[in-house]
Amino acid sequence: MPELPEVETVRRTLNDLITGKQIQHVTVRLPRIIQRPDDIQAFANMLAGHSIVTVERRGKFLRFVLDGLVMVSHLRMEGRYGLFQQDDPLDKHTHVIFHFTDGTELRYTDVRQFGTMHLFQPGEDLLLKPLNKLGQEPLDASFTMERFKEIVAGRSTKIKPLLLNQEYVVGIGNIYVDESLHRAGIHPEETAKSLSDEQLGRLHSAIVATLTDAVNAGGSSVKSYVNGQGESGSYQQQHLIYGRKDQPCSTCGTLIEKSVVGGRGTHICPNCQPLSVFVNKN
Ligand SMILES: [Zn+2]
Repeated sequence: MPELPEVETVRRTLNDLITGKQIQHVTVRLPRIIQRPDDIQAFANMLAGHSIVTVERRGKFLRFVLDGLVMVSHLRMEGRYGLFQQDDPLDKHTHVIFHFTDGTELRYTDVRQFGTMHLFQPGEDLLLKPLNKLGQEPLDASFTMERFKEIVAGRSTKIKPLLLNQEYVVGIGNIYVDESLHRAGIHPEETAKSLSDEQLGRLHSAIVATLTDAVNAGGSSVKSYVNGQGESGSYQQQHLIYGRKDQPCSTCGTLIEKSVVGGRGTHICPNCQPLSVFVNKN
């Protein structure tokens, strides 16, 4: 599933490609992608005639800001947007087509069919599902060490599931949580409230640095991710821990282990990321 760096890369690419284009009409080939409004004809009718002002991101969601509407979209497992000419051959997994007045088309393709689109009046989208309960943006200037301490303080949850919970900090999924915890030298099963200020400081810095480096590399291409121009990211080549089970840790040479934490496959260097306190595994 694309995480913040991948969605941010898609956002930047789309913003360059489609800003200013006007929608002539919309074709919906798979109704289940459209979550709001209920009626796909109403969805298409609402969008016709509107222009793309900018493409923004909130957590792992894209926000297409139009003149007088906002469309919120989640790529889920394998959703992709791409810009095409209207006579380009259509992929059988293309489910929604935004036909622009200049003869180009924004096509949404999704082999797994889990992606979503919600249409809102301006201002409505941040107050309603699916964006209303999202937490702190980690690459925003407001994500200070003080803010991070407020989010984590006193919680008896293990740190990995806490960081994956989008109601606290948004955009971090299984790749970047493992990378960030490794950079910070923190065991994923450490209880949030047991972390010292020094550990929290390292973790805060590691989250920001990991996500920033990954955005700069165009995201990680594991499985099928590509940006809006069909290009792969390269951050997977810089992964320190994710996907490197049984390979030596680049810091200490200890073999990287994979276990399950909070139901998710978890990569850890047992030497660099020791548990600092006893954790009751029951
Ligand atoms: Zn190590």
